[in-house]
Amino acid sequence: MNAKEYQEKLLLKPKNGGETLSVETVDQADSFCEDYKRFLDCAKTEREAVEETLKLAKQKGFTEYDYQKTYQPGDRVYCNNRGKAVMLAVIGSQPIENGVKIAAAHIDSPRLDLKPRPLYEDAELALFKTHYYGGIKKYQWTAIPLALHGVIVRADGEKIKVCIGEDAGDPVFCVTDLLPHLAKDQMSRKLSDGIKGEELNILIGSRPFRDDEASEKVKLNIMRLLYEKYGMTEADFLSAELELVPAFQAKDIGFDRSMVGAYGQDDRVCGYTSLRAILDCKQVPSKTVVCVLADKEETGSDGNTGLQSSYLKYFIADLAKSSGVEGRTVLSHSECLSADVNAAFDPTFSDVTERRNTAYLNYGVVITKYTGARGKSGTSDASAEFAGKVRRMLDQGGVLWQTGELGKVDQGGGGTVAAYIANLNVDVIDLGVPVLSMHAPFEVVSKIDVYMAYQAFLTFFHE
Ligand code: MN
Ligand code: MN
Repeated sequence: MNAKEYQEKLLLKPKNGGETLSVETVDQADSFCEDYKRFLDCAKTEREAVEETLKLAKQKGFTEYDYQKTYQPGDRVYCNNRGKAVMLAVIGSQPIENGVKIAAAHIDSPRLDLKPRPLYEDAELALFKTHYYGGIKKYQWTAIPLALHGVIVRADGEKIKVCIGEDAGDPVFCVTDLLPHLAKDQMSRKLSDGIKGEELNILIGSRPFRDDEASEKVKLNIMRLLYEKYGMTEADFLSAELELVPAFQAKDIGFDRSMVGAYGQDDRVCGYTSLRAILDCKQVPSKTVVCVLADKEETGSDGNTGLQSSYLKYFIADLAKSSGVEGRTVLSHSECLSADVNAAFDPTFSDVTERRNTAYLNYGVVITKYTGARGKSGTSDASAEFAGKVRRMLDQGGVLWQTGELGKVDQGGGGTVAAYIANLNVDVIDLGVPVLSMHAPFEVVSKIDVYMAYQAFLTFFHE
């Protein structure tokens, strides 16, 4: 063999899908992303993502799971956890004790939540106090249009859905920032303090209530409008989950339209692709397949809708029980793709990544063997055996893949739900889409990588 042949045979050479995939595949990626963008626009919060998921699932024959029922191969069920997380399953032909195949993504994203007592007036302007959710660079959330999404549970127990700022005729809201002319002191703050947590106040009104002796008439006028629209009083903010998210829609990026820019792609990009894979799953898969769309990942997966909770374990146990098997037997034989994003190489900030072990846009779905920080703290670290299995599966399925680490060693780090699912004695590896500007109000992914994630989950479910 000459050097060129040895090169081909022995060396790993990641490929840019824009160059190496067929034109048809790239076209399919583009058209897949039209559906993806629609999903992003109507699923900006975990609640909306669950709602949209259930709508799509019901169209594809999924029915609500009943733990007292016994299911047959090919049956399609969903299990809605409090409207904020959801699990879908298609029953396979193999006995469930052989294990299930799980794809687990999260549908919550960084945002600004309203405090329990948010409404106030200052200098005849009405504002909302917020408490940010997840890891944000606070300065990125100023001076951009924000929409208000969520629910209010009134004193009478009625639950009201809120969504303002998405329709063309809707008003939007914003966090104000200081003009550069007067920002001398602010500009000498550290970037992390450029905007402080208590400065993320939302501008919501400026016109006072007319012809009245009352004080704080701008605040009162806003409260009056909210009462007229939602029948709510100030105390109802306590029993509400109101979230400010970017008001803009998903867009193509670039002259070549090769990328998608949108809010909340971490991790709805894996949420949507794994959801589509289970919706498009063949009638009767070999093993039972499960798609989990979880909440609370961005705050550590705590709480009863986060994956440190037992709802996935209980769901598997219920499925197992109806076949007369222990849940732990099923879990111990199960496999999971922890479907989450990784950082894409950004040439503008190249020094935080190690070029040989970072993911690149258009190089396909990224396998992340371990996450964590420093000396691999807080990671489940997939075994060589399972990583080998996943790699073979992707190669056999013709899925373009690459590997990636989240930045240089000791540069920082982060985790996913992988560790919590691995703790259930499941084989887990992280697999997802590389993202630019992760956690920013406008994140960027490549359409090819999105489509390859879908193909990866589809291949995994069909194995
Ligand atoms: Mn994520
Ligand atoms: Mn994240």
